[in-house]
Amino acid sequence: MKEDVIIIGGGAAGLCAAVAIRQKAPGMSVRLLEALPRVGKKLAMTGNGRCNITNRHIRPERYHGRHPDFAAYALEKYDNAGCEAFFGAIGVPFVYEGEKAYPASFQAASVVDCLRFAVQESGVTVCTETKVTGIQLSGGGYKVITEKAAFYADRVILAAGLLSGGDSVGCDGSILQLMKAAGFKTVPLFPAIVQIKTETDVVRQLKGVKIEAGVRLCAGGKTLREDRGETLFCDYGLSGPPILQVSGALAGRNEPCTVCLDLAPDQSFEELLSALERRATHLQNRLLDEFFTGMLPKRIGQVLIKQASLGLHEPVSALREGDLRKLAALIKKWSFRVTGTTGFANSQVTAGGLDTTEFDPKTMMCKSSANLYAIGEILDIDGDCGGFNLRWAWSSALCAAEHIAAGGRYADFK
Ligand SMILES: Cc1cc2nc3c(=O)[nH]c(=O)nc-3n(C[C@H](O)[C@H](O)[C@H](O)COP(=O)(O)OP(=O)(O)OC[C@H]3O[C@@H](n4cnc5c(N)ncnc54)[C@H](O)[C@@H]3O)c2cc1C
Repeated sequence: MKEDVIIIGGGAAGLCAAVAIRQKAPGMSVRLLEALPRVGKKLAMTGNGRCNITNRHIRPERYHGRHPDFAAYALEKYDNAGCEAFFGAIGVPFVYEGEKAYPASFQAASVVDCLRFAVQESGVTVCTETKVTGIQLSGGGYKVITEKAAFYADRVILAAGLLSGGDSVGCDGSILQLMKAAGFKTVPLFPAIVQIKTETDVVRQLKGVKIEAGVRLCAGGKTLREDRGETLFCDYGLSGPPILQVSGALAGRNEPCTVCLDLAPDQSFEELLSALERRATHLQNRLLDEFFTGMLPKRIGQVLIKQASLGLHEPVSALREGDLRKLAALIKKWSFRVTGTTGFANSQVTAGGLDTTEFDPKTMMCKSSANLYAIGEILDIDGDCGGFNLRWAWSSALCAAEHIAAGGRYADFK
């Protein structure tokens, strides 16, 4: 039996595409193949279980890859209002917390449930525990080989994600490997939205300490990416939202990189130096190990004193102007040499993937293989932290679904 559409991967993008095709073209048969025993396993973990479903400030500049502009058309065509309309119709209204949108339930599992119900209600055939191991051209369509059986379809959508989240959420990159072996161009993979490993002598002493900081990822004297927010010291390096946010800029870099923390992001160097001079005057009777107490987390203050080669048991009155300059410089630009990341299993998204030059940005269809589509993370598009990646999954899925439901009539290749 030949289906109209086979979707490989029952994650965010695959589920969304399956529902949307059947909504727009109820006569089309759709089969969804998922390797794991259940669909949406990674989606259920998103946003710390709350599912940060999109962001108010979606802009192409917040996306990365060799050709990030590839994402622009889909993001505009299926904007937040378009995605809200899709999710509203399957029972998931959005609410905003600042710039981030969530399901009104604040439960990622409920988003999976509603997608699952919609898939069932719309008559999509779902095959779980069905890992795809091969895709071949067959009689004007495709033969999709799995560990259990072969399936045939006129159109195939690749929605199998990449490596982020690890094997337990089905992310082994197997479909990318199949495509690569078939001659498709791919961009090397790197973990993004991930903790950064640094030299550990300092961070280990501060394990568990959090501080609001400006964070810059630098290489060769240039800032690669920057952000600001609560930064966490860990035994392996640095974590926290701004670290995750800048981490993607490490993708593909061979040169030495550093993370520079600004622990006084609202003050200029001169303002900070004046404040330290006043502090030194007021607190003359203290020892240096308490000099920063009240201004910075105590352990950070003590480590800074040691980093400036000052004695913790010296009196504050012994500080000279040069010492205060050294401390102010450390506070404004505390540098940590990057040694890596905590890897794909801990990352929220994978940079790299199928080269987007081989796909049409309006329909997500492959330019060289008619009726083969790719959506979501498997393409070389990764977004910032904060709802950008799920939004790419929804928008790319809805574009592909629209094109397929219209019988491929909107092909508009350049
Ligand atoms: C811990 C965590 C938290 C996150 N939080 C957020 C967030 O709050 N907001 C946000 O925007 N993004 C978040 N992300 C990123 C987001 O989850 C992904 O961008 C999104 O899930 C990608 O969707 P996808 O459908 O392309 O791939 P996936 O969701 O990865 O789905 C791919 C599916 O394909 C299946 N599959 C793979 N290979 C095969 C095969 N050979 N045969 C059959 N099936 C296969 C997999 O089992 C999987 O179910 C988070 C990611 C993680 C890991």
